[in-house]
Amino acid sequence: RRKKIVEQCERLMDNPEQIRNIAIAAHVDHGKTTLTDNLLAGAGMISEDTAGEQLAMDTEEDEQERGITIDAANVSMTHEYEGTDHLINLIDTPGHVDFGGDVTRAMRAVDGALVVVDAVEGAMPQTETVVRQALREGVKPTLFINKVDRLISELQEGPEEMQERLLSVIGDVNELIRGMTEEKDDIEDWTVSVEDGTVAFGSALYKWGVSMPSMQRTGMDFGDIIDLERSDKRQELHEKTPLADVVLDMVAEHFPNPVDAQPRRIPTVWRGDADSDIAESMRLVDEDGEVVLMVTDIGVDPHAGEIAAGRVFSGTLEKGQELYVSGTAGKNRVQSVGIYMGGEREEVDRVPAGNIAAVTGLKDAIAGSTVSSAEMTPFESIDHISEPVITKSIEAKNMDDLPKLIETLRQVSKEDPTITIEINEDTGEHLISGQGELHLEVQTQRIERNQGIPVSTGEPIVVYRETPTSDSQEVEGVSPNRHNKFYITIEQLGDEVLEQLRLGEVSMDMPEQERREVLQEAGMDKETSQDVENIIGRNIFIDDTKGIQHLNETMELVVDGLTDSLEDGPLAAEPVEGALIRLHDARLHEDAIHRGPAQVIPAVRDAVHRALIDAEIRLLEPIQDVRIDVPSEHMGAASGEIQGRRGRVDDMYQEGDLMVVEGIAPVDEMIGFSSDIRSATEGRASWNTENAGFRVMSDNLQRDIITEIRERKGMKTELPESIDHF
Ligand code: GDP
Repeated sequence: RRKKIVEQCERLMDNPEQIRNIAIAAHVDHGKTTLTDNLLAGAGMISEDTAGEQLAMDTEEDEQERGITIDAANVSMTHEYEGTDHLINLIDTPGHVDFGGDVTRAMRAVDGALVVVDAVEGAMPQTETVVRQALREGVKPTLFINKVDRLISELQEGPEEMQERLLSVIGDVNELIRGMTEEKDDIEDWTVSVEDGTVAFGSALYKWGVSMPSMQRTGMDFGDIIDLERSDKRQELHEKTPLADVVLDMVAEHFPNPVDAQPRRIPTVWRGDADSDIAESMRLVDEDGEVVLMVTDIGVDPHAGEIAAGRVFSGTLEKGQELYVSGTAGKNRVQSVGIYMGGEREEVDRVPAGNIAAVTGLKDAIAGSTVSSAEMTPFESIDHISEPVITKSIEAKNMDDLPKLIETLRQVSKEDPTITIEINEDTGEHLISGQGELHLEVQTQRIERNQGIPVSTGEPIVVYRETPTSDSQEVEGVSPNRHNKFYITIEQLGDEVLEQLRLGEVSMDMPEQERREVLQEAGMDKETSQDVENIIGRNIFIDDTKGIQHLNETMELVVDGLTDSLEDGPLAAEPVEGALIRLHDARLHEDAIHRGPAQVIPAVRDAVHRALIDAEIRLLEPIQDVRIDVPSEHMGAASGEIQGRRGRVDDMYQEGDLMVVEGIAPVDEMIGFSSDIRSATEGRASWNTENAGFRVMSDNLQRDIITEIRERKGMKTELPESIDHF
C-alpha cells in the first residue's frame, strides 16, 4: 500500500499544478500538531487510531511508536479533490517566533499558510506575528478555527453565540490581513470568509470540521452540528464531515500551486538578476532548468546522517549531482534524494521543481543555504547572517551525556546558522553563542527536552569588540633579541569598507582584481587597495614596504603576530575590528634562526597594541533592533522597557489592531527583557530582536565594563597607563 502511495506521489511530482506547498501558522497550543495528525490520518498516511491522541512529534519515543524515525517536521500527503489527485507538502514552522529568520525561511518555501486559531482564546499575539511573517513573504492565508467542541460542550454556546464568536475571530484575522496586504499591488483581496470557503472550523481533537462547501454537501447547519456534538455523537459527526477532507479540500481549492505562485513569489524571495536564465526557469517551475534548492532545515537520520530538506524552485534533483552550496567554496555531491511520505523519508529517483525534497550528501549545507547546479545569487541575502553577541557555557549535568551533548550542539549549530559552538581551551567547557539571551534559552531548552539531556548553563556573557577611533603615529615594535624591528601605523577603516567586510563581500579568497574593485567602491584609495597583503577578521593589513630583505619569508610570522594581537585587543582582550594596519618599514636579522616566531610575533604584537592605544581604541558593544507588538494601552510600558535599558525608541505606528514600537538597545541591557516585558504588558506583547551591529560605548561606561571583562577573564584590572583617552 505504501509503495502504491509513493508511486502515486512520484507521478504527481511532475505535475506542479497538482502540488500545494503549505505551512501551518498557529499560536502554541492552538492545535497545530493535532490537526497535522488528522490530515495525515485522513490522507491514509498514519492510522486513524493514532491520530488525535497526544500526537506531538515531541519525543523520540513517540516518533518511534508511530513509525516516524526522522525529522517529522516536513510531511507530504496526497488528497483527491474534485476528481484530481493532489500532492500536499506541509513544512513545519518553528514554534518560537522570537527569531524572525527561522520562520521567514520556512515561509519562503511555501505558497499557502493555514492559520489555526483556538475558538476559545481567539487570535493571540503569536498568531499575529506568524501571520504577519507569512503575508510579508507573499504567502496566502486561509483560516481554520479549532476547538469549536469546547464552545459547544464546555461553554454551552448556542448557534448565535457561536456564530458571533467565529465572526469575531475571522474579523481579527482579516484586519491583520488587510493591514498587511493593502499596499501590495501584486496581491488581490486575501481576506478570508466562510462564504468564499477560505474559513473552516471544527475540532481537531474529535476530528470533525465544517466549511461552507461541506455544509452545502452534507446539508448540515450549525444546529445539527451542535446537537451531534452535545449528544456525544462525535464519531458520527467525524464520519459525516471529516476534518481532514474539509481542510484538504480548502487547501487544494484556495492555495496557489507552484506554477501560479512562483512568478509572483520569486521577486520577493530572491534578489538576483530578474533577466537571467535562472530567474526565468524559477518563474516557470522548469524541471529542465538549472537545479535550485532552498534549504529550510537540516535533520538527522540515525542511518543516513544529515538530511537537508527544502523546496526545489527549478530543475530536477538527482542522485550524483555536484551542486554549489551558498556561502562555501566547493561543491557537494548528492547521495540520495527523497520525499517525506507522511513524515518518513522515501528515496526516489528524482525530485523536480515545485516539490519539497529531502537530500543527503549536502554536507556543507545549513538551514537557509541555496543549493544549485550553477553559481547564483543565494536566496537569503547574506546580510541576514548575524554574528553571535552573547555566550553561555553549557555542561551536561550527567558526565555520561557528554558525547551526546557534543553531537547535539554540533547539530544545533547546523540547523540554526546563527548559533556557534566553541570549546574554552582553558576550562574545557563548551560555549554556545547566539543572537540574544532568549535565543540561547530556547536552544538549551530544546536540547533538554528533545534530546533528554539535562544541562546546566553559566551566566550569559556579552561579546564586545575593540576599535580604533582615530589614526596613530608610527610605532616601533622591537623583538626580544632586539635584532628585528617593525614600523607600523593604525588607521580607521572607512565605515563602508568595514560594512563590506562584515557582509563577507571582501575576502582573500576572491580574485585580486575583484577585491580591489569592491574596496575602491567602498571608498578605499586605489594605491592602498593594491597593497592589501591580508585580511584579518574585520581588519585589513597593508604592506607599504619596498624591497626589504627576508621580509617575504617572514611575512607569515608577521601575519601570525597581527592575528594574535587583533584577536585579543589591548583593552579587554576582545576582538579588534575596523583597523587598517600599515607596515611602513622593517629591520630583520640576516639569520633565520634569529627571526623565528618567538622574536617576530611579540614584536608585531607589541607594536600593534601600542598603535591601537595611540589610535584611541575604544570598546564597542553589540546592539539590537527591538520590535514590540502590543495593544495600544500597553504602548507606554513597552517603550519604557526600551528606554530604561540605555535604549532609544525610533518609531511607533499602528499595524492591524496593534501598536508597533521599534527601537534599539544594547544586548547587555536586554538580558532579562523577556520576563520584564511580560510583566510590564500583562503578557500581551510579542517581540522580536535582531542584531544591529556594534556601537562605541559612551566614554563614562568604558572603564567599568572593561574592568568587569578583565576581572572575568582573570586579567589584571588596571589598564596600561598609556590609555588615557577616556
Ligand atoms: P500545538 O501546540 O499547536 O501543536 O497544539 P496541540 O495540537 O499539541 O494541542 C494542544 C492541546 O490542545 C492538546 O492538549 C490537544 O489535545 C488540545 N486540542 C487540540 N485540538 C483540540 C480541539 O479541537 N478540541 C479540544 N477540546 N482540544 C484540542
